[in-house]
Formats: sequence, C-alpha cells, structure tokens
Amino acid sequence: MAHKKCIICGKEAAYCIKGTSDCYCEDCAKEFFGDLDLLEKIDQAEKQAKQLKQILNSNISQNTDDKIDDNDQDLIEK
Ligand SMILES: [Zn+2]
Repeated sequence: MAHKKCIICGKEAAYCIKGTSDCYCEDCAKEFFGDLDLLEKIDQAEKQAKQLKQILNSNISQNTDDKIDDNDQDLIEK
C-alpha cells in the first residue's frame, strides 16, 4: 500500500482525520489541530488492520480444526 501524503505540505502523512481520507504529517497535524486525539495515527491503523487479519486467519484455522456445529450445518444446507 502506498504511503499517504500530507494534504498540506505533501510530506509523508502520519495522521488522518477519522472517517476521511484527509491526512497530515505530524507537523501539520499539530499545527492545525493541536489535539491529536481528533486524528487517527496511520501506524496504529495499519497495526489494527494487521491484527484484524491475524484474528480472521486464526478464526479460519479454528473453524477448520473444530467440528462443524449444528448451526453451521444449517447455514451450509440453505
Ligand atoms: Zn504537512
């Protein structure tokens, strides 16, 4: 995935506004917002995405290891 860029100065962005694609480098984020709690740190977002993938992967391997219970069989049959 390409690095996001600061929409103000074009440097590599470190923070994005939650729920938008507006991203800022650390300097601009501090200058414009002061409070970084409003922003989502990109590193964390990527970490969360990786954790989510790991959780999904572990769930998949659990499901293949576990016996299919009655509810799952109903879903497959329908
Ligand atoms: Zn910037």
